[in-house]
Amino acid sequence: MMRSLQKLVVVGHGAAGLAAALSAAEQARSRSLRIDITLIEKSREVEAGGNTRWSPSNMRLAAPDRLGFGFEDDILKASSGLADRNYFRALADDATATIGWLQTHGVEFVTPIYYLSAGPARIQPVGGGRVIVEKLLEAAKKAGVRVLYDSRVSRLLKKQAGGLVGVDIQSGDEGVATTADADAVILACGGFQGNPAMMRAQFGPGAETLRLISPGTRFDTGDGIRMATEQGARVSGDWNGMHVEPIDPRSHHSAPVVLVYPYGIVVDQDGRRFLDEGSGLVHETWEAFARDIHFTRPGSIAYAVLDSSLFDIPGFERAIRSEVPPYQAESLQDLAVQIGVPARNLIETVDTFNAAATSDAAKFDATRCDGLAAAGTLKPPKSNWARAITRSPYLAYPLVGAVAYTFGGLATNEKAEVLGERGPIPGLYAAGETTGHFYGTAPNAVALLRALVFGRIAGREAVAFLRAGPVTSVRAGYDLGEETTMASEDDGAFIRNIAEVPWREFPDHFGGALSKPLVMPGTAGSRHLDYRISMYQPMAHVARHKHQVQEQIYHVLEGEGLMEIAGKNHVVRKHDFIFLPPGVEHAISNSGLVDLVFLVITSPVTDDAKIV
Ligand SMILES: Cc1cc2nc3c(=O)[nH]c(=O)nc-3n(C[C@H](O)[C@H](O)[C@H](O)COP(=O)(O)OP(=O)(O)OC[C@H]3O[C@@H](n4cnc5c(N)ncnc54)[C@H](O)[C@@H]3O)c2cc1C
Repeated sequence: MMRSLQKLVVVGHGAAGLAAALSAAEQARSRSLRIDITLIEKSREVEAGGNTRWSPSNMRLAAPDRLGFGFEDDILKASSGLADRNYFRALADDATATIGWLQTHGVEFVTPIYYLSAGPARIQPVGGGRVIVEKLLEAAKKAGVRVLYDSRVSRLLKKQAGGLVGVDIQSGDEGVATTADADAVILACGGFQGNPAMMRAQFGPGAETLRLISPGTRFDTGDGIRMATEQGARVSGDWNGMHVEPIDPRSHHSAPVVLVYPYGIVVDQDGRRFLDEGSGLVHETWEAFARDIHFTRPGSIAYAVLDSSLFDIPGFERAIRSEVPPYQAESLQDLAVQIGVPARNLIETVDTFNAAATSDAAKFDATRCDGLAAAGTLKPPKSNWARAITRSPYLAYPLVGAVAYTFGGLATNEKAEVLGERGPIPGLYAAGETTGHFYGTAPNAVALLRALVFGRIAGREAVAFLRAGPVTSVRAGYDLGEETTMASEDDGAFIRNIAEVPWREFPDHFGGALSKPLVMPGTAGSRHLDYRISMYQPMAHVARHKHQVQEQIYHVLEGEGLMEIAGKNHVVRKHDFIFLPPGVEHAISNSGLVDLVFLVITSPVTDDAKIV
């Protein structure tokens, strides 16, 4: 039955969620529609705002009312041409209008000096992301939006015939379960950087220990991506992509970046250089550099080594957001002792570098790629800012990688509609980091802007959807009923890619024993087959169990593990396949050094003797 009052739920209290809730409220008011809008936020009120709250919020505009030259082309270039042109065109089309809208809600903008180097023009809200959160919240509340804090949305609910009907919520420390009615839902609940299991599943071992760049980053645990893919949403963006920056691990500040590394050299724990520190402006090199430190360098740490000529660079402090002073010493020997790298190696590295840094130091210009390259014999090379390190005191900053956000997310279109295999999923919208769209490297100063622009669009579109009436039947080929949540041809056939299906840890699986349910009744409508791929981290395992009627095949693709069958352990490795008849007790664990990857085929799909 149609509800007399249409209900919209917005999930998340960052830039995307607040823009969505406010724009929906404004749209409803302008059309004299009565729509009940609730914004639900996982964190407590004092911490609300996710990444946005801690973001300086640089945005790639020449001025509040003017896009910079090459806006769209530069974004497409950063993605190596993989990005959806229509999506970024919509971003470009709505960018200045969105900034104007923020201004009407009291957000002021300035043109900041960006660290040290020049680059594309950017604008910044006075007070950063915190002010965006405050101003949009204030306006949203005035416009009648209800805000529920300390409440995590955990599942989208749909009716049998199709269409969303609500969301499951868990509130407070106890996780008290409730539901909220919803005829449309906007997912604006961030990326998955705060979810160690998802990070490890996508980026490999070690990703789960990557530092989070701000206190608000931890709330973004991929919930929106999971909830929507459970309903057949497609994904987009680079699942091997994330924005990582080099920070000072000693600092207690949020985002304590140290971006003076191009002006000196960077050494690993062994005192050796490992990259061209001057291959580009910081926003062109930081992502790959910080990732390399975390995943490749011993101890996941590196040191930027400079000398006192750093202090001659006008405004050098802007590029250092750590409150902790650098290690300082009168000799390289003493500096090496302080940072715990072999002194002989550090001295040799600096000597080798200095011998190659013979170009005219007067050409040094921190604000642009100055072409001051070291001699071609230097390995790795240094392409810009290659001044010899000779003037004591010598300085060192420790550097580790810290993640700000991930790139993989939901596929959406220019209307912020979440896309399934057959087009938009009725009533479901997404904006900000929950959506994919970024490939390769993060387009500089675009993440916050697109959260606002598509949040605002999502609010508008959700109201237009509700105005058009409730979903009473299958629309756009979608039936959101239990058995057919995955898109398929009329005859039920489909082709999908493993990357589209999120990892899950099913009950009785422990320690990072993850599986992707590729084909099963709930996701593919299969009647006789349950087909999964599993990836167990070292020491992960499934509890010993047996099936009443089901037969199983395990097929090992990578790694080594122990398969226990009827009380006996067997080592299993690549291309071993195991058949398990009903009634045989079994378990599998990863006893090897690398992830254990295997396929599991189970038939019939339930273990109930009556249903075959
Ligand atoms: C330190 C830092 C610096 C940055 N600098 C820039 C910059 O200069 N320029 C730029 O463009 N971008 C920058 N970014 C990135 C940009 O700020 C973010 O991409 C953007 O703010 C994301 O907005 P969002 O609304 O998608 O997510 P968020 O702001 O993270 O909001 C997501 C919200 O959803 C909530 N949530 C999560 N799961 C649930 C759930 N299940 N139920 C209910 N609520 C949930 C979270 O608690 C959070 O409040 C920076 C980010 C950081 C952290």
